[in-house]
Amino acid sequence: MPPLVEPAAELTVDEVRRYSRHLIIPDVGMAGQKRLKNARVLCVGAGGLGSPALLYLAAAGVGTLGVIDFDVVDESNLQRQVIHGQSDVGRPKAESAAASVREINPLVDVVVHNEALTNDNVMEIFSRYDLIVDGTDNFATRYMVNDAAVLLGKPYVWGSIYRFDGQASVFWAEHGPCYRCLYPEPPPPGMVPSCAEGGVLGVLCASIGSIQVNEAIKLLTGIGDPLVGRLMIYDALEMNYRSVKVRKDPECPLCGKNPTITQLLDDYEAFCGAVSEEAQEAASGSTITAAELKSWQDRGDDIYVIDVREPNEYEIVSIPGAVLIPKGEFLNGSALERLPQDKKIVLHCKSGARSAECLAIVKNAGFSDAVHVGGGVLSWVKTVDPSLPTY
Ligand SMILES: [Zn+2]
Repeated sequence: MPPLVEPAAELTVDEVRRYSRHLIIPDVGMAGQKRLKNARVLCVGAGGLGSPALLYLAAAGVGTLGVIDFDVVDESNLQRQVIHGQSDVGRPKAESAAASVREINPLVDVVVHNEALTNDNVMEIFSRYDLIVDGTDNFATRYMVNDAAVLLGKPYVWGSIYRFDGQASVFWAEHGPCYRCLYPEPPPPGMVPSCAEGGVLGVLCASIGSIQVNEAIKLLTGIGDPLVGRLMIYDALEMNYRSVKVRKDPECPLCGKNPTITQLLDDYEAFCGAVSEEAQEAASGSTITAAELKSWQDRGDDIYVIDVREPNEYEIVSIPGAVLIPKGEFLNGSALERLPQDKKIVLHCKSGARSAECLAIVKNAGFSDAVHVGGGVLSWVKTVDPSLPTY
């Protein structure tokens, strides 16, 4: 595949010294390093994948490095987001990441986008870069990144992580499939837990993030065999990497022969259905606040509080008196026989999405006065008992 960028005119003496271990690799050499110097790479997200990706892209001498993130550094990020440190807690991630990049390599021109990537800015921002590294953790943004990249004709390096499992690929519609060819539809809401819900082994981020940087460098310099049309699957417990072929789908609505998606979707959140329609319907008029739950408990109401999260989440923090029945038991129906007929059912989860899904099932089973707690245990900690830990 041809190199993505033309070489810069020259390297300075400082640059030659700094990058000497690259320069003596014949495949990289002067020409490759000059291409990296001229390269403009955007990293979407300065989180688990963005952290190692930005650190190594900076060290490698990518001339212009953009970082977009709207979030601030939280203590629970530090277990894996190694570009941030203790003193960065509370600081915008984009700024904290940019400071680390400058410390590693002052020759890099860092562009800070301290904002959310949205339909309104994604095309304009992407158009300023040669290559995108996608380190996002949610499906709505992934589809938006893919659609924008395909519409702009740009390649991007995708990665995803969950517990001990990681995946990576390069999507470049001009030369291979796009993300929609691999995953035509987002998973049903609530089916695939996020890292916040399911956890992730910190070092897994480095394994996948480094694959992403490796592919980025190959694409920029035109060396090796990029991960276009292949999906890399990493299992940290078995310790193996597999790669499977991903074919371009000729019927792909975005990059196929007769595309029906010719511009960004209006609403990616809705496309990915953050909460299903059934759940939204069930929750409407049947959502209480954490403070309301507390007052019901305090006055001794006849309620049955059910935590639908997973056991390890329950162990970290739970609402006093809540009984643990994980969501899976509602999905397979086994939870229903455990529900008391003479008490009002109150469901909660971490933030309210899973409990809304379960609420729909419970109401369908005839518990018409059941409710769920909007904002879940996170809202309980925030508004009722801030001494409890969050995750
Ligand atoms: Zn496609």
